[in-house]
Amino acid sequence: MKLLAGKKILITGVSNKFSIAFGIAESMYQHGAELAFTYFNERLKKRIQSFAKFFNSHICLPCDVTHDSNITKLFLQLSKYWKTFDGFVHCIAFAKSEQFKDDYLKSISKDDFQEVHNIASYSFVSMAQKSKNMLNKNASLLTLSYLGALRVVPYYNIMGVAKASLESNVRYIAYSMGKQEIRVNAISSGPVKTSSSHVIKNFHQILKKYCKNSPIRQPITIQNIGNTAVFLCSNLSIGITGQIIYVDNGFNITAI
Ligand code: NAD
Repeated sequence: MKLLAGKKILITGVSNKFSIAFGIAESMYQHGAELAFTYFNERLKKRIQSFAKFFNSHICLPCDVTHDSNITKLFLQLSKYWKTFDGFVHCIAFAKSEQFKDDYLKSISKDDFQEVHNIASYSFVSMAQKSKNMLNKNASLLTLSYLGALRVVPYYNIMGVAKASLESNVRYIAYSMGKQEIRVNAISSGPVKTSSSHVIKNFHQILKKYCKNSPIRQPITIQNIGNTAVFLCSNLSIGITGQIIYVDNGFNITAI
């Protein structure tokens, strides 16, 4: 059964085949979704265009979310292909690698604090705001979080604080968009080795401990995350909004 047949979904945050967004695109494509893609910068353009082609999509648009005007432009360009659509997946985060190498107080600066919140959290509400009038009833917006939003994970530092903001954002956007019957959720995923996560000091230790201590002692795959994303963007999850759904083999329930 194809859960996303007839749905048009915009995917952000693919940079390579290891990206969580790539796993989500793969699952959504298998479930019959029509996909559109964004790419962060010119360096990634050709690669993302070839991924789009692989997923039978001819829509591949630039968007660096640092500036609001780029997000406005994105939806203006998208409207030339799709008058309306059924949701987007926000898989975007960035912090300078120095932010993940040392003690939080030693690393933090005002500029970095603002930059990380702007890219990892504000961009989600900005995308919701600027696409609001193009979204169909029962559309679903999805973002990606991590347990570091709630608990201290050494060296996750500023990104944990930004993910806490993102998770709160999910609830406020869900409340605001509920009137339009649009749903807004986050997947809080277990650790996955990607170009973003591998810069976190001791990431291999995080992965090792996670596999040892989760109720299901396996690594999380981008396919696991993709399949939950399919459910959350499908009509099977109507009734679920404002939630943080853990796809982490149960790690978040453990203490010692
Ligand atoms: P990734 O590096 O593959 O994806 C991050 C993406 O963010 C990249 O495609 C990059 O191009 C994009 N990006 C960065 N700055 C941007 C900007 N200014 N404008 C537009 N795009 C920008 O890594 P990933 O691990 O797949 O990350 C995807 C999401 O999943 C992130 O929000 C991340 O925090 C979250 N997440 C990751 C893990 C993990 O262990 N990898 C766990 C939980 C949550």
